[in-house]
Amino acid sequence: MRPGRFDRQIYVNVPDVKGREEILKVHSRNKPLAQDVSFKILARMTSGFSGADLENLLNEAAILAARAGRSVIVMEDILEGINKVIAGPQKKSRIVTDSDKRITAYHESGHAIIGKLLENCDDVQEVSIIPRGMAAGYTLTRPENDDSHITRNKLIDMITMMLGGRAAEEIVIKDISTGASNDIERASDIAKKMVTQWGMSKAIGNMYLGGDKEVFLGRDYGTTHSYSDDLGGIIDNEIKSILDSCYTRALEILQANRKIMDNMVKVLFEKETIYTDEVNMLFDGKTADEVIAFIDERQAKKDSYKKSEAPKINIVEEKVSEEAKTESAQVDDTAIEQAFDNKEDTQPQEQKADEEQEKSQEEEQPKE
Ligand code: ZN
Repeated sequence: MRPGRFDRQIYVNVPDVKGREEILKVHSRNKPLAQDVSFKILARMTSGFSGADLENLLNEAAILAARAGRSVIVMEDILEGINKVIAGPQKKSRIVTDSDKRITAYHESGHAIIGKLLENCDDVQEVSIIPRGMAAGYTLTRPENDDSHITRNKLIDMITMMLGGRAAEEIVIKDISTGASNDIERASDIAKKMVTQWGMSKAIGNMYLGGDKEVFLGRDYGTTHSYSDDLGGIIDNEIKSILDSCYTRALEILQANRKIMDNMVKVLFEKETIYTDEVNMLFDGKTADEVIAFIDERQAKKDSYKKSEAPKINIVEEKVSEEAKTESAQVDDTAIEQAFDNKEDTQPQEQKADEEQEKSQEEEQPKE
């Protein structure tokens, strides 16, 4: 065995979009599905999932449907199954004050509106103010494909979307919260890599300056890098200018779409979770009340699947969730990391959930 190989985690090759569609079909054979379940959409949303992850999410969905007393599994059950595999279960029991709820609703609307409007951002799949894992709320996007190349424009749009939460807080609440710290960390990380590793800044050019090395200096670890202090100053300026211009852009977009943002917040406050359809309705100019009525209608349709007799769905034992936990323990981090750093990783791209507020460690929580 060669040195350095021992500490590497080994990842099984993950299936591509066609493969995922096939795997989903196989594992759903003995499960009753509602008409609205689309394997094509699900395959697109589960980039980075292994075969076992896909099986788990269908089992989770079956459990959810059975618990709700439905005789078939609806699309929302499967979407929640995906989220459970990625980020752990929703924590509906956590007490959230109205003030926190309002901040979270604006914060997530900020992400969602920018994600919807920017050309290079993935489609917004779900926006929620229900805490999940360490996040107070989350906005999930659905990648169009399994592209591993990410362009500069896409990165700029992604940073803008990440800073959209903070921008919304500043506009509406005239104050900013600590909730955006993870967004800021991730945005800074991308900006830094753009400048020091990916040759995406004019002032630095195509020079690789990445990979700070940790060295042991007597008692403490210090960091050394391979460039001069002068160049270090230019790098910092470049990073700051990317982040500042993205933030300004986020503020402008949200100010121009203030009415949509207010409506989205109203719907989130009432319903807590919205999906692509509702986001589209808001952008089509529908009022909060119209969107809420639409959600009620969908709920009624879901309830119509309920049968008075015992549920027909076979529950595949609760221990499935245990397996899901260990399976998804390795699932972590963002699309960027996947594309650029850890090609061997099995990281799903959906992960735009914010790990915000609340530092409480809870066991079912697979992320850091
Ligand atoms: Zn956020």
